[in-house]
Amino acid sequence: MRAGERALRASVGEEIVSGGWAEKAGEILDASRVPYERSFPLSRLTSLGVGGPADFLLRPVQVPSLAQALEGLTDEGIPLAFLGAGSNLLVGDAGFRGVVVCLADLFSEPEVAGATIRAEAGVRLPALVSRLTRLGLSGLEWAEGVPGSVGGSVRMNAGAFQDSMQSCVREVTLLDRHGRVDHRKVTSTDFVYRDAPFVGNRVVVDALFELTPRPPKEIEEIIRPFREHRKRTQPQGVRSSGCIWKNPPGSHAGRLIQEAGLKGTVRGGAKISEVHGNFIVNTGGATFADVMSLADLIRETVLKTHSVPLEMEVVVWS
Ligand SMILES: Cc1cc2nc3c(=O)[nH]c(=O)nc-3n(C[C@H](O)[C@H](O)[C@H](O)COP(=O)(O)OP(=O)(O)OC[C@H]3O[C@@H](n4cnc5c(N)ncnc54)[C@H](O)[C@@H]3O)c2cc1C
Repeated sequence: MRAGERALRASVGEEIVSGGWAEKAGEILDASRVPYERSFPLSRLTSLGVGGPADFLLRPVQVPSLAQALEGLTDEGIPLAFLGAGSNLLVGDAGFRGVVVCLADLFSEPEVAGATIRAEAGVRLPALVSRLTRLGLSGLEWAEGVPGSVGGSVRMNAGAFQDSMQSCVREVTLLDRHGRVDHRKVTSTDFVYRDAPFVGNRVVVDALFELTPRPPKEIEEIIRPFREHRKRTQPQGVRSSGCIWKNPPGSHAGRLIQEAGLKGTVRGGAKISEVHGNFIVNTGGATFADVMSLADLIRETVLKTHSVPLEMEVVVWS
């Protein structure tokens, strides 16, 4: 678990701080003019469809008002968490006591200059890949089937097919919790497997991708086998948060789970996919407890059968 996530855990599921906490947050948000809602069910914003309410849900559409809101909320010590497309997130049934900032509406027109494109945090990877294909810019083909946002995917250093965000992200705009902006140049060595430690507990506002010119037809040819592989090996048309576990060095979590005989195991509304052992799917009405019960079973069984400790890839707010 990252340091930022550890700090976050302290604010998840606790009672709302009394003494006008919510009133103060409302005043700050009204002054900043960031669109927000109260008591918003996070199950609606996560691809797995699990999670209780956030006391406040912000949906910024521009950065200056978000910066103003963050500064005010931080000065008051109000707990904050950031959400992209919610496709790698497992939220507890008690939800989040504080303010969740959803960056999904931050998606103005990407800026293209030569072989680079700058995309805002809320742009979805499949939409970005199809735009790059039309523009004849190659480098993100592996990401066509990843349902994350640019911000969340930089944060997670999302990847597939031996590639990941680190190979083409060259600049990231970050906003800290006091509303300060930092334009940071990055190289592939700033990232690690499924993490971007330089982000810390800041918001990724946008990212600049450096790509390679290539005819659109050739880009489509690169994408096709990736798409077919996903269709063949991953559950389709169901709610999930992708892979639950990181692949241990030199191994595949999905294969270990399959060999441990766990595919198809059910707890309440949650099930270990019969198609891919590293996916837990919501078959209807799954709770956080159902999903965690399966996750605990997987961790214990794989440790017993293969002596391999699994580490969670999905981010847990509980
Ligand atoms: C069907 C399916 C297939 C998938 N396939 C893959 C795959 O092939 N490879 C892969 O790596 N992942 C895969 N995933 C997981 C997921 O799509 C990726 O991890 C994605 O990058 C997460 O982006 P997000 O916007 O959904 O992040 P979220 O789930 O919203 O958040 C993930 C983390 O990032 C943080 N975060 C979100 N936005 C920001 C921001 N703007 N600034 C700072 N922090 C932020 C959150 O606080 C949280 O800690 C898959 C998921 C599904 C459902």
